[in-house]
Amino acid sequence: MIVKPTLPPYWYPARSQAIYGYLLSSTDIYNSQSSLLIPAKSLRRHAVCGKIGAMGATPTVPIRTDAIGLMGGTFDPIHFGHLLVAEQARERYQLGEVIFVPNDIPPHKKDYEVSLAEHRYAMAVIATADNPYFRVSREEIDRSGPSYSIDTIRAFRQQMGPQVQLYFITGADAILEILTWRQPQDIVAECQLIAAHRPGFDLQRMTAVLGAELAKQVEMFTMPALDISSTVIRQRVRQGQSIRYLTVPNVVNYIHKAGLYQNHRSNRGKCEG
Ligand code: ATP
Ligand code: MG
Repeated sequence: MIVKPTLPPYWYPARSQAIYGYLLSSTDIYNSQSSLLIPAKSLRRHAVCGKIGAMGATPTVPIRTDAIGLMGGTFDPIHFGHLLVAEQARERYQLGEVIFVPNDIPPHKKDYEVSLAEHRYAMAVIATADNPYFRVSREEIDRSGPSYSIDTIRAFRQQMGPQVQLYFITGADAILEILTWRQPQDIVAECQLIAAHRPGFDLQRMTAVLGAELAKQVEMFTMPALDISSTVIRQRVRQGQSIRYLTVPNVVNYIHKAGLYQNHRSNRGKCEG
């Protein structure tokens, strides 16, 4: 007999991990001849090591449920570069969850018309749906006014309490934008900034722009470089080129279905999606 958890998977991955771990590890598992197949104590050992996955995923590292990653961006559209940064950061810092936070009004000037937040949100949900450790937040979309990272970090701090360690995940290029916008000292006081090297990024320039003190607060991590950007995807769609393998297949489908990026005027997409 295979014992299945009686509770439905809960959206909160870290907690569902705990629920699965608890339910499984508190019950011996028998086969149809009632012979003991897996004793509960063995399951408990695996659960503690994070080897019992939530919703079908098999984590490879232990998980710190009190460590949460925040990944801000315009995500117009979300692509494999974003997903890879988030997954590598999750694994490296043993994050219990990575929360993607699409912005509403990017405070830095964009030189193109940003797609409707609802499209960007929908694509982020589609792209992250198969990862139990990822979720997408409407925090910035539902907040009126420009999306400042410090406001977002404070909102999550308030929701999650002082015991949670927040990691703000970015590509190296975005660090400069974030720390030159607003209250950089408060940002580094509230969370740990982690920045993935991005192809073409000049590390020395970062120190020059931020100053040595602030630059020291940013933890850089290397990951396999993926030279993909939303800009390239938008350009390729506009030029009628393939965007397969640059992002998740259903995001490719969504882009075409909603008519995103086809020309300058259609950047905001059809509302009916
Ligand atoms: P755009 O070309 O419109 O600026 P983008 O691809 O840079 O889009 P953003 O939404 O601006 O995507 O970026 C969100 C975050 O993801 C930023 O921290 C950015 O540095 C990071 N990022 C985006 N693409 C990559 C990539 N290929 N490798 C590493 N980090 C990335
Ligand atoms: Mg960018």
